[in-house]
Amino acid sequence: MAETFHQLFVNRRAYTLQSHKPHPDTERHYYYRPKAREGQPPPALSLDTLQRHLAGELTLGIYAINPCTQRSKWVAIDADYKNALEDLLKLQYELRQDGVEPALEKSNRGGHLWIFFEQPALARQCRIYIYHTALRLGLPIKGAGLPEGIEIFPRQDEISSHEFGNAIRGPLGVHRGARDSRGWRFWFYGADYTLEDQLAYLCRLRKVTEAELQNFIAGKSLSEEFVRRTRPEAPKRYFSSPTNEFRILEYVQVRRQSGRNWIAQCPSCAQANRDTSGDNLAISIEEPRKYICWAGCTREMIREAVGRPIPQKRYA
Ligand SMILES: [Zn+2]
Repeated sequence: MAETFHQLFVNRRAYTLQSHKPHPDTERHYYYRPKAREGQPPPALSLDTLQRHLAGELTLGIYAINPCTQRSKWVAIDADYKNALEDLLKLQYELRQDGVEPALEKSNRGGHLWIFFEQPALARQCRIYIYHTALRLGLPIKGAGLPEGIEIFPRQDEISSHEFGNAIRGPLGVHRGARDSRGWRFWFYGADYTLEDQLAYLCRLRKVTEAELQNFIAGKSLSEEFVRRTRPEAPKRYFSSPTNEFRILEYVQVRRQSGRNWIAQCPSCAQANRDTSGDNLAISIEEPRKYICWAGCTREMIREAVGRPIPQKRYA
């Protein structure tokens, strides 16, 4: 079973472990990368360690990307918010229309949806495929200004040789922080709740071929397409705030993504017939309330230009 698990899930031999003791302040069981003993190479994931994971003696986190190839054997979509399971079921249904057989694994509040490849696939291409499928369904994707939404593992397009990217909880292990879940393990929905049946089920799933993946993502890219579809089609509630707080994204047309910012035409520059290339305004993706005009327009000028001037303080 450890060998089967290795074949299905292990992309590289670096790994993380979930702490046995909860953190005293948060009572959460965090994952950490095991340290090398002095003069020794860092611990590499062995069949013995995998056996102990399946036996529930320790709990592994596994990495998506092998830095030598920038590839992964799988994509996992993590959703952990209200209605997360509903979103994952929608995604599962949509992926099935492509002939993909995704496996749904339970987790605390939602689940992880796994897709396996016949041969390891480029992380970048896995991400393009899932991003586009999720956007088509209008599912929230965490990161693009949204505090909650699905997360796609691999979380990076590429990593360098000294990086690890993000690890995800290794399936079929005993989760230290979830005593109330059945048997302390999170199972896949598609098979009986024994390790043998679960692994056999995962092996039986049809694996996506490289040619299929190429076909799914033909003509698509990540950031540009993502931005283009996000702005006009994402439900407005993701950009507007319940308290009627000012959000610049409600007033500008995002043109593209640049690093950690959305790029748009500055409304104040536009009024003065400047910024014809439409890229003076940068809006933080992480914190969409933060924006700046590179030509030097002030916040007051920009608010004035979009018809939502900053209220003046009144003095008695
Ligand atoms: Zn400006």
